[in-house]
Amino acid sequence: MPSTSMWAYTWDLCYASADDAIGHLKNHVGLQAISVATSYHTYEMLCAQRKGSKFVLASESAVYFRPHMAFYDDTPIKPHLSPMVQDTDPLKQIGDACLKYGLTLASWTVCLHNSYLATNYPDHAQVSAFGDVMKHVLCASSPAVQAYMVALARDLTTNYPVQIMELESLNFQGHMQGHYHEKVGIPPGPVESCLFSLCFCEHCKKQTKERGLDFDRLRNTVQAKLDLFCEVGVQDDQSLEEYVASNAELAAFIDLRADTVTSFTRKMVESVDVPIYYYLMGDYYVGGMRYKEIAEIVDRVVILGYTPSPDQLRNRIVQLKEDGVPPEKVVVGLQAYPPASPDEATLIRTTQAAAEQHVAGYCYYNYGIMPKKNLVWVGKAIGEW
Ligand SMILES: [Zn+2]
Repeated sequence: MPSTSMWAYTWDLCYASADDAIGHLKNHVGLQAISVATSYHTYEMLCAQRKGSKFVLASESAVYFRPHMAFYDDTPIKPHLSPMVQDTDPLKQIGDACLKYGLTLASWTVCLHNSYLATNYPDHAQVSAFGDVMKHVLCASSPAVQAYMVALARDLTTNYPVQIMELESLNFQGHMQGHYHEKVGIPPGPVESCLFSLCFCEHCKKQTKERGLDFDRLRNTVQAKLDLFCEVGVQDDQSLEEYVASNAELAAFIDLRADTVTSFTRKMVESVDVPIYYYLMGDYYVGGMRYKEIAEIVDRVVILGYTPSPDQLRNRIVQLKEDGVPPEKVVVGLQAYPPASPDEATLIRTTQAAAEQHVAGYCYYNYGIMPKKNLVWVGKAIGEW
C-alpha cells in the first residue's frame, strides 16, 4: 500500500498546538507521515487556517530547528536560524507529537537554493560565465557546501526523531529564481537559459581542469554566445540537445556537472542512517540530474504531480518509467487545492491515477496553505484507493 504524507511548516503545525495538529493528521486525516520544512527559502504566504492575522513572511532563507553547532565544525558555512526558533524548538514539539501518535517525521529539506547562504558565502555560490554571483543558490561542487549539507542531515537525524530525509534542490539551479521583480527585455530560449545557468565558480573550475577540459576556453565560448544573444536579442533556433551535442567540450562539461550531483547524492545517502528521498525538480542540462542514476542511489524520488488531469499524471509516471525510474520508487506530490484540485472528486481521481501506476506513495501540498475542509478531501482520497 502506498505511503501517505503531507507537506507542512513548523509555524502552522505549532500555531495552536503541535500535539493537536499531529494527532488530527494521524487519527482523522489518516496520514502515515508528515514532511516538515526544516530548511526553507524565503516566502510570503496566506495561512488559510488561522484565526486573526493571516499572512506570514520570511525575507531570509533559514532553518526551522535548533542546530547543534558541533556538527558544522568541518565547514565554514553555518546554519542561519529563523527568528521563529531563537527561543523555542518547534521541531522538537512536532517530533514529540509524532512519537506520541505514531506519525513518521520526514525532514523536507531545501538544500542548495538558499539566498541567505549564497549571499553571505559568495565563494560557495554558483557564478555565471561573466562572474555574476547567483545569490540564490549554493554550488554543488563546493566541498564546503557538501560538508554543510552532510552536517545538516546528521544534525537533524541525530537530534530529532527524523525518520526520512527529503532533499529538495540538491542540484545545480537556473540563473534566475523569481523572488525579485525581474526585468528581462530579451527572454532567453532553452540554449541561452542553460548557458546563463552554467556555473564557473572556483570549485567548478578545479573539477573541470581535473577532468582535462579547458575551463577558460569553455567560459569564453559561453561568454561569446551570450554576448551575441544580448546584442541581437534572438534566441538560438537549435534545440538545447542539438546545441550541446555540437560542442564536445561543452557536452563533457555538462556531463561532469551530472557526475557532481550524482556523487553528492551518494554522499548524502552514505552520511545518514535514514532513507533519502530526492526531489526530481530539474533536468540534466541545467540541474545536472541523471534521473535513472539518482533513482538507483536513493530510496525514493519525489515528483510534483500538480495537475487536475489524471491522464497527464499517468503519462508523467509512464515517461519516468521509460527514463529508468520505476513507479515503485516514486512518491507523487499532489496539490490538495486549486488549481490542481478544484474539488474533492478531482483530488480523488488524480490520487487513483497514481495508485493505478503502483507508485510508492503520495505527499499532499500543503497543511497550512489549504483550507481546513481540504484536509477532509485528503482523508477521502487516501481512503479511496
Ligand atoms: Zn560552481
